[in-house]
Amino acid sequence: KQFKDGLEKTRKGLVEKVSDLVIRRKKIDEEFYEELEEILIGADVGVSTVMNLIEDLRVEVKKRRIEDAAELQPVLSEKLTELLRGDENNELRMNPDGITVILFVGVNGVGKTTTIGKLAHRFKQQGKKVMMAAGDTFRAGAIEQLEVWGERAGVEVIKQQAGSDPAAVMFDAVQAAKQRGVDVLLCDTAGRLQNKTNLMEELNKIFRVIQREIPGAPHEVLMVLDATTGQNALQQAKLFGEKSGVTGLVLTKLDGTAKGGIVVAIRQELNLPVKLVGLGEKIDDLQPFDSEQFVHALFA
Ligand code: GDP
Repeated sequence: KQFKDGLEKTRKGLVEKVSDLVIRRKKIDEEFYEELEEILIGADVGVSTVMNLIEDLRVEVKKRRIEDAAELQPVLSEKLTELLRGDENNELRMNPDGITVILFVGVNGVGKTTTIGKLAHRFKQQGKKVMMAAGDTFRAGAIEQLEVWGERAGVEVIKQQAGSDPAAVMFDAVQAAKQRGVDVLLCDTAGRLQNKTNLMEELNKIFRVIQREIPGAPHEVLMVLDATTGQNALQQAKLFGEKSGVTGLVLTKLDGTAKGGIVVAIRQELNLPVKLVGLGEKIDDLQPFDSEQFVHALFA
C-alpha cells in the first residue's frame, strides 16, 4: 500500500474535517480557531504542538491578510510539512562493507514481527541477502510466527528453543550470517515491558554480543510503535526509547487509525526519526517515511 491508501482514515478524520469546517464557517474567527484546535487534537497531533501550530497560523493569517477560511488549508498543510521535516536522515543506516545488523524492540502486539517480515521482503527485492534472528525466546509462539514471515519472504530464520538465551541466538545468527554471506541481519527481541530491568539487561547482553562480533553493529535499533494507540505510543517511546540505544522508530498500523497526526506529535516531542511506516498487514505494506509524501497524501 502507498501513503495515499494507507492514510485514508486520517484523511477522513483530519483533512476532511478541516474542509468541512472551512465550508461551514467561511470566516476565520475565534470559533474557527477553536474548532480547528479540536480537530487537530482529536487526530492526536498533540496538545502543545497544536497550540504552537495555531499560533503560527494566526501569524500567517495576519501577515498574508487571509480572510477566507478556504485559503487557510494550504497554509495548514505547509505548516504540517514544516513540523514534520527534520534535518535528520530518514534512511536506514547501512554497513558499507559487511553485514548490516538491525535490531527491533517494542511491546508485544505492536507489529514487530510483521515489520521484520516486510522489511526482509523489501531488502530482498533490492537484491540483498537477508537473514532473521528469532531473539524473542520468551513469548509463546514468537519463534513460529517469525518463521511464518521467514517463509513468506523467502528468508532463513536462525532460532533456538523457546526459553533459551537471546544473546546466544544472536551469536549463532551472526556466525551463520558471516558464513552465508548475508547482507542484512534482522533481529527480533522480546517485548515485555512489564519486566523492564530484565529486558534492559537482556538487550545490553545482545548489544555486547553483536558489537563484539561485528564492529559498529547494530547499525540501527528500531523501536516499533502501534499508531492506533496514539499518545500511548508516544509515552512508550519516551519511557523506553531514550535508555535503550534506539536510533529510529517504525510506526505501524497507520492505515488503521484516523489519528495519523501522531506522526507530527512524535516528530515534535522526540528526538528520534520515524524511519518506516506500516500501512497494512500485507508484505508490501511498509514504506520508508517521507514527510512531503505524507502530507501530500493527506491534503492532495
Ligand atoms: P508483534 O507482537 O509486535 O510481533 O506484532 P505482530 O507482528 O504479530 O502484529 C500484531 C498484529 O498487528 C497482527 O495482526 C498484524 O497483522 C497487525 N499489523 C502489523 N503491522 C500492521 C500494519 O501496518 N497495519 C495493519 N492494519 N496491521 C498491522
